[in-house]
Amino acid sequence: MRLKNKVALVTGGARGIGEAIATLFAKEGAKVIIWDVLPEGEEVAKRINGAFYKVDITSAKEVKENADQVLSEYRKLDVLVNNAGITRDTLILRMDEEDWDKVLAVNLKGAFLVTKAFFRGMMKERNGSIINIASVIGLMGNAGQANYAASKGGLIAFTKSVAKEGASRNVRANCIAPGYIETPMTEKLPEDVKKKYLEYIPLGRYGKPEDVANAALFLASDESAYITGQVIVVDGGMVM
Ligand code: NDP
Repeated sequence: MRLKNKVALVTGGARGIGEAIATLFAKEGAKVIIWDVLPEGEEVAKRINGAFYKVDITSAKEVKENADQVLSEYRKLDVLVNNAGITRDTLILRMDEEDWDKVLAVNLKGAFLVTKAFFRGMMKERNGSIINIASVIGLMGNAGQANYAASKGGLIAFTKSVAKEGASRNVRANCIAPGYIETPMTEKLPEDVKKKYLEYIPLGRYGKPEDVANAALFLASDESAYITGQVIVVDGGMVM
């Protein structure tokens, strides 16, 4: 078991990629804590013998209070996966301020708040792996996703900064940039857009949440002990 005796927290773990990461981490021996706004997180936690906290990661107050509770219960956090994310896609000319603010609040500020809440403890323990789920869109941009692309590009830059601040205390931070992964987030895309994506994926299939979870497992485990500040792209070869 590659995560034996480790405590791991996954935001947005109620479904999709986060659920797959939480499930795999539990299978590999970690104690898994799920934070999500969706109450379905409770069932996932039950199934994997983990714990569920209903937390909105855009609220500094909720994040701080729940982080204190996690730390008093588990004493430490070894692995943090900032996975919760949303889209509000539309072209810039139609994008209103709220579409921009909401996406930046969850995808970027949320990751900052949760990281901050656990960073001191990881530094003290001289141990930690922070895994931020970005996106290939954060590397290449996309028409209709200016807010999302900015949030994910920002998350990559944030990750490198965290990696530099944490390195002297053995706290690592890396990103995973998934391509097209089949989850409720991509389910809502129009059929023609889905088909178009497939043309650009050399491996000829959409990704599964488990494809991302496998990369997360590597970054969470001690096998990646000498890797920090990196972006692992999990996209079937779409961006190369
Ligand atoms: P899902 O929408 O399936 O899951 C995301 C989860 O995060 C949902 O349960 C969602 O709840 C929750 N969440 C949203 N806002 C908050 C919040 N403020 N506080 C706590 N939890 C919240 O998405 P995916 O599994 O597809 O995506 C997971 C991550 O991977 C995201 O960061 C996404 O940007 C990234 N990604 C996904 C790709 C894909 O193709 N699917 C490609 C590249 C990156 P609710 O439903 O209520 O919003």
